[in-house]
Amino acid sequence: MASFLRLSPPTLLSTSRPCLSPAKTPFFHPVDRNPPRKHHQRVQISKFGSFLDLEPKSKPEPVDFDVPWFDPADRRRFDVIVIGAGPAGLRLAEQVSGRGIKVCCLDPSPLSMWPNNYGVWVDEFESLGLEDCLDKTWPMTCVYINDTKTKYLDRAYGRVGRKELKLKLLSDCAANGVKFHKSKVWKVEHEEFESSIACDDGTELKASLIVDASGFRSSFIEYDKPRNHGYQIAHGILAEVDQHPFDLDKMVLMDWRDSHLGNEPYLRASNSRLPTFLYAMPFDSNLVFLEENLSR
Ligand SMILES: Cc1cc2nc3c(=O)[nH]c(=O)nc-3n(C[C@H](O)[C@H](O)[C@H](O)COP(=O)(O)OP(=O)(O)OC[C@H]3O[C@@H](n4cnc5c(N)ncnc54)[C@H](O)[C@@H]3O)c2cc1C
Repeated sequence: MASFLRLSPPTLLSTSRPCLSPAKTPFFHPVDRNPPRKHHQRVQISKFGSFLDLEPKSKPEPVDFDVPWFDPADRRRFDVIVIGAGPAGLRLAEQVSGRGIKVCCLDPSPLSMWPNNYGVWVDEFESLGLEDCLDKTWPMTCVYINDTKTKYLDRAYGRVGRKELKLKLLSDCAANGVKFHKSKVWKVEHEEFESSIACDDGTELKASLIVDASGFRSSFIEYDKPRNHGYQIAHGILAEVDQHPFDLDKMVLMDWRDSHLGNEPYLRASNSRLPTFLYAMPFDSNLVFLEENLSR
């Protein structure tokens, strides 16, 4: 996957009456997409006015799990240091430690819940043995290419149960003896036979191999020449609605339709200059995750 930049956090919001009338901003036009359905509805503007004004109701709690912590008095050297306890770092730590390799994983907040809403192809998650960590699956996906063309993909899609996945990886890591350290790495140095890291709490650790799993914003990667990584911006909400137009057995991977912008010249022109697409996960007839995306 190319580098990702998602400026707005994927807020898990709940609003009993979201704004489904023509959106106030070209960045978020959630449901009124001229859906090819009988009950094309128009719901009144909510008391919130705009989705962009919504704030998360609560911050995610850290997971309730006790990991083995690194003891600074223990001067032992690790085989592998993993920087970052996101999905990539934890999975790597779990897999490598399962082969008897001594691993330490560092993150400023190793037990915090991951903030993003992750979707995956079910067959890919099954091949990783992680199918128990999906909290919802759809047998098909669809892409609305434009107002007249729709592509159906006969491939199941799932939403990752973030808590289940995090707990599974943490408990496998703990069982395999991975040590965790709550700190931010600020320097990595490589010598001929070993590498070392320095953390913001003053801890220094050495290992044969250091793996940077600190996400797209990594400050540890140096490039020979300037690179254009591309980016993606998304704004997502979990919306409680009276009705929505999506089929419950299909996940909407991309909806590029723009007829919901009506004949408003400014919105249509700006959308064709910088088109955005909607990603929608219909959970039931009253609950849907909606995320508007812009990728370049
Ligand atoms: C809103 C949103 C939705 C997304 N949806 C999907 C999706 O549906 N499917 C998909 O495949 N991908 C999706 N992505 C992309 C997603 O970000 C990545 O797939 C995934 O998070 C990458 O995991 P990671 O472990 O590499 O990095 P991250 O999840 O970014 O984790 C990096 C970890 O490293 C830690 N860290 C950073 N710097 C340091 C440091 N200096 N020292 C120690 N620790 C550090 C951070 O605290 C963090 O815990 C989405 C992203 C966003 C923002």
